[in-house]
Amino acid sequence: MPLKADRYAVIGNPIAHSKSPLIHRLFAEQTQQNLAYQALLVPLGEFEARVGELFAQGLRGCNVTIPFKQNAWAVAHERSPYAQIAGALNTLMLRPDQSIYGHNTDGLGMMRDLLVNKQVTIQGKKVLVLGAGGAVRGIIQPLLEAQPALVQLANRTAATASDLAYDFKPYGEIVGGGFEAINSSFDVIINGTAASLQGELPDIPNCLTEGGVGYDMMYGSEPTPFMRWAYEQRAQGVFDGLGMLIEQAAEAFELWRGIRPDTRPVFAALA
Ligand code: NDP
Repeated sequence: MPLKADRYAVIGNPIAHSKSPLIHRLFAEQTQQNLAYQALLVPLGEFEARVGELFAQGLRGCNVTIPFKQNAWAVAHERSPYAQIAGALNTLMLRPDQSIYGHNTDGLGMMRDLLVNKQVTIQGKKVLVLGAGGAVRGIIQPLLEAQPALVQLANRTAATASDLAYDFKPYGEIVGGGFEAINSSFDVIINGTAASLQGELPDIPNCLTEGGVGYDMMYGSEPTPFMRWAYEQRAQGVFDGLGMLIEQAAEAFELWRGIRPDTRPVFAALA
């Protein structure tokens, strides 16, 4: 009789369009892991109770997406240093003693995509990050570890970016404010706002160094407004967030299964 598959899930609201089930199925086939991974819609306000039930029913781990990343942080009994500092997490794992371990793989995934897959240099460069929401919280520490000359956070609500920059001051050169505080050029601009989801471009001046890099965390079948803007600024490299999505999934898969999948064939299958 075949062994029962270990169960995993991605939890969010909305969740129907998540690519995570496909990505994890491809990882599992490639590494011959016996697991089942499904997308679960959880009503707002019910995250904590539902996650408790799912783990009690045998769920081994889950990814967590909009809008539950901060709720997930609160349900973890222990957190990785990245999750601890970010104040939000996207990966939970049930440990043998039934305690819940939390990790934030967003920033690690984005940095692996930028540095390894896209061969972008961050060390010594000026980096502008647009947005100051959950996703940006997760990427700042791994970004600062790559030793940029400066990270500037710019957000529609300026106070959120200045507060976030203040929190991360111990980890590197970082400032934060509104879009109007952008008054120089940057080698790399990362769009971590949800503006692309609404088909909008953040209200920013021409501030990408010619030959620089534009990276949108959002992904889709068409270039986003931010990606089109970066092309107009004569960027040398313009990327969407599909590689980040696949790499953050690989980090979670490795945490759960102890084996690292090769992300290249998965990227080729989804691109
Ligand atoms: P949040 O809701 O936590 O934050 C949204 C951010 O976007 C805030 O900074 C908000 O500014 C800003 N924003 C929203 N609308 C606009 C607009 N029209 N113009 C300018 N700024 C705007 O979302 P997340 O941080 O979780 O997600 C942000 C993006 O990152 C999404 O597009 C998401 O799809 C993507 N993402 C991609 C991942 C990947 O693996 N590729 C992983 C995680 C996220 P304000 O504070 O003023 O409201």
